[in-house]
Amino acid sequence: MSPNILTYNKYADALNERFGCRVQKVSVNAGFTCPNRDGSKGKGGCIYCNNRSFSPPYCNPESSISSQIEEGIRFFSKYKSQKYIAYFQSYTNTYVRGNGSTDSYSISDSDFETLVAKYDEALRHPQVVGIAVGTRPDCVTERLLDYFAELSAKYYVLVEYGVESTDNRTLEVINRGHTFEDSVWAINETARRGIEVGAHLILGLPGEEQPAAALRHAKEMSLLPIDVLKIHQLQIIRNTVLCDRYMLAPDRYPLFTLEEYIELLIDFIENLRPDIALDRFISQSPSEWLVAPNWNIKNFEFVHKLEKQMLQRHAYQGKKFVG
Ligand code: SF4
Repeated sequence: MSPNILTYNKYADALNERFGCRVQKVSVNAGFTCPNRDGSKGKGGCIYCNNRSFSPPYCNPESSISSQIEEGIRFFSKYKSQKYIAYFQSYTNTYVRGNGSTDSYSISDSDFETLVAKYDEALRHPQVVGIAVGTRPDCVTERLLDYFAELSAKYYVLVEYGVESTDNRTLEVINRGHTFEDSVWAINETARRGIEVGAHLILGLPGEEQPAAALRHAKEMSLLPIDVLKIHQLQIIRNTVLCDRYMLAPDRYPLFTLEEYIELLIDFIENLRPDIALDRFISQSPSEWLVAPNWNIKNFEFVHKLEKQMLQRHAYQGKKFVG
């Protein structure tokens, strides 16, 4: 990759190339829950999580999947997208209920049918070309992955895993309820079946020393067969365990300034495998939920700043990647 042509590999461009037009993800809330909240894997959830802070306003779990997709298409109509990917985003979208075991995950036949019916409903929409399914790495089974593999022959299917950190100590601190080894297993099993794999990471989680932790994450993720990566900064969101802790001792939870985050992100991207498509760099929770950091920046403004700084630093994806 030449720094003069492209600073990093953009997921939007990859989709555009694949489908020959602009493709937009529309979020759907299928009314699922999360095993880290209902006691199957843990209670209380990840310490930073408040799902209401990242569900788009057009997602109402009381509406059908088709109505939510219609709403989403109306919401994005100004961008003149022609095709859409239904993004099962809220909570854990391969999980209907626990099986009574905290160790191994299985899906009953009836729950399997429930999941398939939700994905099928999305895929029946005439403008939907595929699905993106956000989930935890400890909530997929061989049978479900086989089903996604079959579906991939006809539609675009992306399974997106919340990895969050490659450090097991951090995963414990954030009460994630799974290990990095779980992520490695799920990612390998998904890729092995020819299904597109996405991963999600949070930079700046409590206890992680920067920039060393971010560089380690870049190295570890580059070793895995992922196609798409989403990254965002740690945010303190109201009504979370992390928020309570932060309020008591803010100095123990250092947060990035916008400038610090951009510099760290560039270091991260330079160390990342060049073919991984990058989907997103920041999360912006609505002001009523966000405690800190308040950067007050729109996504496109952030991307502009990042690209400008990358050009100034002569940085590009994979510049320091050692394969
Ligand atoms: S971040 Fe995901 S896995 Fe963690 S509590 Fe929230 S919904 Fe569950």
